[in-house]
Amino acid sequence: MSTETAARSPEQGSAVVIEDDLDIRNIVVAVLRQAGFDVHSEATGRDGVEVVRRNTPTVVTLDVGLPDIDGYEVLRRIRNISDCYVIMLSARADELDTLTALQAGADDYLIKPFRPRELRARIDAMLRRPRIQTTCPPVPPSTPAPAPAATPALAAVLGNSAVLQHGDLVLDREARTAKLADEELLLTRSEFDLLHDLLRSNGAVRTRSALVGVVRGEDYRGYSYVSDADQRAIEVHIGNLRRKLSSNARSPDLITTVRGIGYRLVPLPGQRSVP
Ligand code: CA
Repeated sequence: MSTETAARSPEQGSAVVIEDDLDIRNIVVAVLRQAGFDVHSEATGRDGVEVVRRNTPTVVTLDVGLPDIDGYEVLRRIRNISDCYVIMLSARADELDTLTALQAGADDYLIKPFRPRELRARIDAMLRRPRIQTTCPPVPPSTPAPAPAATPALAAVLGNSAVLQHGDLVLDREARTAKLADEELLLTRSEFDLLHDLLRSNGAVRTRSALVGVVRGEDYRGYSYVSDADQRAIEVHIGNLRRKLSSNARSPDLITTVRGIGYRLVPLPGQRSVP
């Protein structure tokens, strides 16, 4: 055991690897051990769910193609008992895989084969972002409501704080809360990060590639490759975000698609858009 592993292990808690391919399982276990986790591994979905139930892990890596039940079903069962971070590993790079994984509650996904360093970077980035919403009912936030701006401004930064406002929409980066017309929005981690980025960009167009970077996190050390699947995932997140923003009857469409490029925030009525 290396000194690094020994020094870090008490901090990280446990991780569960659900993977039937022995070679890949060994690689993933090694990556997680090196990251300081106490690692358990299982080769089937049923055993995997059971070990998650027993160990309440921080992180689960989940293979999509398992011998007994498929990874999506395993994910649904895990989501009934745990709000752990789940990264899905798939040998299939097709779109359905990605969409289904994210919609079923995965936090991230990685297509095989991958470099151990890439898996580590994904996990580190994932752990640095607090969870906003899980399938379990969220704990009601005890943070005070941000002070409203004197006049609504396009993504106005209120003083020095991390509070951004756009009409009825108020987003507090520190507290990780978003409100629309005083109603709390239940956003996933990715949705929150994307909405924050669009607000911060002040109506300027954000490309899909840039938004992939936002979802991956700032400390996504140098993995700049953006796949079609990554871009599709952004479309799914934005679609979910739009749905949540428009479920409030008072809100106009806040996000607009710039065809072939990306997305931007719609300027408030009477305001000039940023060129
Ligand atoms: Ca497999």
